[in-house]
Amino acid sequence: MNKIEHIGIAVKNLKESNEIFSKLFGKPHYKTEEVESEGVNTSFFQVGENKIELLEATKAHSPIAKFIEKKGEGIHHIAFDVTDIKAEIARLKGEGFIVLNEIPKKGADNKLVAFLHPKSTNGVLIELCQEINE
Ligand code: ZN
Repeated sequence: MNKIEHIGIAVKNLKESNEIFSKLFGKPHYKTEEVESEGVNTSFFQVGENKIELLEATKAHSPIAKFIEKKGEGIHHIAFDVTDIKAEIARLKGEGFIVLNEIPKKGADNKLVAFLHPKSTNGVLIELCQEINE
């Protein structure tokens, strides 16, 4: 893994949270993107070298909606940049981690992504992401 790519924060209302985080960081988000397959609306903030992703559910049964129902708003996942997501998935499976997406899928922000089950990572949802070069 190369570095933390971003930290994902689950929010109930993206518009309200965009305002809160804009005040916090002293600048607005640089993009919003809906990921239909995940039932989620996202916005991204650049903070120095780091990125923060806010996630709002667009459907009652999306993973973000379930997360907020169970745990409330807050840090949802940590995403790590990887160079070769397929190799990394194979490596982590070999190490005994539970990979939720054996075949990486298209995520927000032009990335191929795969998640590890928090059960195998001390309760932390881990996202692997590889930039799509096209
Ligand atoms: Zn993410």
